[in-house]
Amino acid sequence: MAQEMMKAAVLVGPRQIAMKTVPVPPVEPGMIEIKVSACGVCGSDIHMWKAGKGWGKQDGSDFFMGHEFCGVVTNPGDSSFKVGDRVVFWANLYCGKCDMCLSGQEQLCREVNGTNYIGFVCNGAYAEKFVGKASNAYLLPDTVSDVAAGLIDPLMVAYHAVRHSGIKLHDKVLVVGSGIIGHLIGALAKKAGASYVAMSKINDLKIEKAKESGDFDAFFDGRDPQQTESMREATNGGFDIAFEAVGSGDTLNTCVEAVRPGGAVVMIGNSMEPQVPFSMNRAVLQEIRLMGSVSCTRKEFEETIDLIASGMIDPEKYVTDILPLDALQHAFERLTTETDPVLKIVIKP
Ligand SMILES: [Zn+2]
Ligand SMILES: [Zn+2]
Repeated sequence: MAQEMMKAAVLVGPRQIAMKTVPVPPVEPGMIEIKVSACGVCGSDIHMWKAGKGWGKQDGSDFFMGHEFCGVVTNPGDSSFKVGDRVVFWANLYCGKCDMCLSGQEQLCREVNGTNYIGFVCNGAYAEKFVGKASNAYLLPDTVSDVAAGLIDPLMVAYHAVRHSGIKLHDKVLVVGSGIIGHLIGALAKKAGASYVAMSKINDLKIEKAKESGDFDAFFDGRDPQQTESMREATNGGFDIAFEAVGSGDTLNTCVEAVRPGGAVVMIGNSMEPQVPFSMNRAVLQEIRLMGSVSCTRKEFEETIDLIASGMIDPEKYVTDILPLDALQHAFERLTTETDPVLKIVIKP
């Protein structure tokens, strides 16, 4: 039988995607094949796009990204899925065997180590089809649209971060960063009982959806040298919790300065620098709790699907653009243009 082929948006060099025809991978034991319905374009894709390479072995073979995706099963292999099932994939390639996995903390899997994800170390879903481990696939309820399913990945990151923060009723919350995860954290913090939610942003074009959502009570200008004073005044002494969703030293320090004594800072942003300068004394002398937050647990991934299915949150409303696969290059160019009001793009191959 002739090898089945498909279109894929291959990363061919720094800031360069090319449409290619590539073989559909074989369905090996434990795997399923899906026809991709939707795939969200993520900030971490932008880093790989700029670098022109993924995080896996560089053997010259075609690499395509895409880790926020759903699709329809076209070959269930030896799994219990059926042809036609709608599924969403969790990109986390956890081992299921290490001490972290066995304690239900798959986001901390020793094999994953923050990098072992579909679309980073192996080919993802910027293609017509995807073949991957059936154990990473979850059935989608009818109430979750394809586009909404394309946002389960950032939503699970926001969901885990908000739960991890230990937020309590009436807490005052700051979100530093105006990307999709910042938007979703604000929405979930409000649902979790925050009395006041603010965003520190630098680009007004990227916060239209945040304004529309009504989840944010205030916006602070990250370039304003008086920002910390304004925040302390507005909160009567500082935020209870600040979420860092950018990944830089400046924004981390904004968080550390913005929380009250004894407050908490949750770090979600991935820094491109190996080390960042940081006001350690403020954290020590004010007993500020610093915590990292990454991905989510397997149980939280299932709960994230249910957050949408149950109508608690509608991530689709944050989508600014739905584009075909061959517009992926254009999508990255727009996402890296400061003057473009794009917030979240979902690709529909
Ligand atoms: Zn992502
Ligand atoms: Zn593990």
